[in-house]
Amino acid sequence: MNTIFITGASSGIGRATAKHFAERGWNVVATMRSPEQETEFITLDNVLVLRLDVEQEGTIQTALAEAIERFGTIDVLLNNAGYGTMGLIEAATDEQIRRQFEVNVFGLIRMTKAMLPHFRSNQKGMLINISSMGGKVTFPTMSLYHSSKFAVEGFSESVSYELASQNIKVKLIEPGAIHTDFGGRSMEFFFDDALTDYKLFTAAFRAKLGDMEKQPAYASPPEMVAETIYQAATDGTSQFRYIVGDDAKMLIQMKENTDEEEYLTNIAQHFS
Ligand code: NAP
Repeated sequence: MNTIFITGASSGIGRATAKHFAERGWNVVATMRSPEQETEFITLDNVLVLRLDVEQEGTIQTALAEAIERFGTIDVLLNNAGYGTMGLIEAATDEQIRRQFEVNVFGLIRMTKAMLPHFRSNQKGMLINISSMGGKVTFPTMSLYHSSKFAVEGFSESVSYELASQNIKVKLIEPGAIHTDFGGRSMEFFFDDALTDYKLFTAAFRAKLGDMEKQPAYASPPEMVAETIYQAATDGTSQFRYIVGDDAKMLIQMKENTDEEEYLTNIAQHFS
């Protein structure tokens, strides 16, 4: 039986993916920061719930050791844990800036490094990283989130060469807007009204975006991402990128097929 190890399995995409794989007979290591709050997964025989915070190396090592002890071999690592930030860069504190990268980038790299010796000793493995359409295209006021996901894209692409030499595949998932807690509890905002020079810009942006704490009505369900992750894990191909959602497909295509200056002007005009 195959085993997938998931970070951020408490909600949203991570949770839907844990369910999807468990329902298809996989062993699932559902890691989360607060496992004591989990009520559903602990009732399933093929799901092991463990505490893991990607910011804390000790929790990664402990969870990995417990997972290997229980299931023997881990076949797929899904680096999913992450959160968003939105606001003016001048209003972001040094701590907020560092934390965005600490979780979305350094946490993902830390988790990957911890898993690789196990994959190497098995002479196989698969690393699936959750990027975003925001790893390819950008929107105003999300500079930190975008730069963290652009980093995930660059890291994944480059590391795939050395890992191929060890029979370890790397895949990237690029979801568009997905109905999860991402726009709510997983989004940190920093708009500072004292920065009055940005007043017009911020007002126009907010008016365009509407309720910033809600995902847009066209957002896709997390199960759609879970299905794509399952496909990536099982299709036996060396496809590297998987885009999820019509919004993501449309925007990424638009960027690729439009003159850059024209494309950037279009995005700026859309939000002004
Ligand atoms: P979500 O429902 O809020 O899930 C985020 C998950 O990340 C939660 O399980 C959260 O755990 C976990 N997490 C946050 N910080 C963590 C840390 N330090 N250590 C371990 N886990 C941590 O949102 P989601 O949409 O499913 O987000 C999952 C991934 O999808 C993220 O990488 C996000 O960037 C990406 N994504 C989302 C969208 C979207 O529109 N929703 C689109 C593209 C990409 P807690 O429960 O402990 O907070």
